[in-house]
Amino acid sequence: MYNLWKNVLEEIKTKVSAPTFSTYFADSELITANGGEVVINTKNIFVQKQFEKKYDGLIREALKKNKIEVKNITYVVSAGSTKVRQKAREITGENIEENARGVVKKISEVAKERFDNKENPSGLNSRYTMENFVVGSNNDLAVSVAKAVIENPGKRYNPFFLYGGPGLGKTHLVEAIGNELLRRNPKMKVLYTPIDHFYSSFVNSIQNKKGAEFSQRFRKLDLLIIDDIQFIVGKEKSQEEFFHIFNDLYQLNKQIIITSDRLPNQIRTVDERLASRLSSAGTFDIQMPNFEDRCAILKAKAEWEGANIEFEAIEYIAENVKTNIRDLESEYSRVLAVADLKGVTPLQLINAGYSSAIGGGKSKSVSAKQVVEKVAKYYDLSVKEMCGKSRVSNIKTARQVAMYILSKELQMSTTKIAPEVGVKDHTTVMNGLKRIDTDIKLNFKLRDQIEEIKEKIYGN
Ligand code: ADP
Ligand code: MG
Repeated sequence: MYNLWKNVLEEIKTKVSAPTFSTYFADSELITANGGEVVINTKNIFVQKQFEKKYDGLIREALKKNKIEVKNITYVVSAGSTKVRQKAREITGENIEENARGVVKKISEVAKERFDNKENPSGLNSRYTMENFVVGSNNDLAVSVAKAVIENPGKRYNPFFLYGGPGLGKTHLVEAIGNELLRRNPKMKVLYTPIDHFYSSFVNSIQNKKGAEFSQRFRKLDLLIIDDIQFIVGKEKSQEEFFHIFNDLYQLNKQIIITSDRLPNQIRTVDERLASRLSSAGTFDIQMPNFEDRCAILKAKAEWEGANIEFEAIEYIAENVKTNIRDLESEYSRVLAVADLKGVTPLQLINAGYSSAIGGGKSKSVSAKQVVEKVAKYYDLSVKEMCGKSRVSNIKTARQVAMYILSKELQMSTTKIAPEVGVKDHTTVMNGLKRIDTDIKLNFKLRDQIEEIKEKIYGN
């Protein structure tokens, strides 16, 4: 069935654009084609609808060309996938609750399947490319490093340690590096694996007395990508095995890429020696994109998919989802799916009173005054102190952080921000914003503080 469908897909590939193919067709499967009763699995309800409405003719034709009898085609969305179940809940209006651990776990389950797939020894998902990764102020530094790694693997940024909260694009970016390097040199030996799967494979190999084979497999690599290393477990033996593999690859100038949702020295289970190795070439992070970046991501996504969505609708979604990019994408798909089901455009849907499932109306419920209060409280200052004339460095920083959040989160102009933080003119605000914008790229502590403050602002 797999090969049959592969041929059908090859045929379809020649008929549609590359982005359309990867959005709609790449993850589809032929489940059965018994006696002309064809069942095709699609990745979500949106794709399912598009298959029914738009691509049915094309699919029939491609099936027939491959000598598959077609009487009836049913397009289904596999009930086994978490994503699909989530989508079903979204459409029925139930709450979506996806905690960070759950998301990571889900991803590592998928990776596990890929890891053991002989046809795809790299374990990479071809969906993640550099071309479809949108560069914004939240990730530009990380992207420059990624590009440097692509140009010169194993050189300056080795290991490349990428950190950032869940759903912000770490996996996407590191897999994109792997895909791009493989595209340039198909002979390159690349392996992507989440750390927990590294462990289970290691344990298996010991039990099956294949320890030597296991370590050989890793030592032959040109590029090793380890995802979510925060899940490294305290088991000494496997940590030590990882440490040795790491050292061997490193000494051979093979590229190592690591992701984590925290800094190496903040991962409790990691031994100190390893922690210092992990970050020896520097750490780089991805942050939550601001409003403009969020719009850019959705706009790009809509363009690749050829989805019909008004810019105002994109702005509405970007304004409402401030948790992470994964949520942003799922809210976007939800709007498209619901609009499609109701036969209206996304903007019509929103204007008719549709309310966002994730973070509904957060931006509306936060006022400038609340932001100022939360920032002052975070820095242990009174609002009066923070918004006074003091030039003492920590007070000044607090004031500038307040300006920054008012600008990025509430989209307030510099003239409007000035009176809120007790400064006379908008140029002082502009300078403050510039300073934080620059500092935030290099100063992880400041970034974390701002993220924490944002959580406090939106948290309750
Ligand atoms: P993480 O590994 O940090 O938890 P992922 O890499 O899984 O996050 O990203 C979550 C989703 O957001 C993915 O579907 C990914 O393609 C998308 N995404 C994240 N950042 C970007 C970006 N800059 N441009 C386009 N899509 C992005
Ligand atoms: Mg990830």
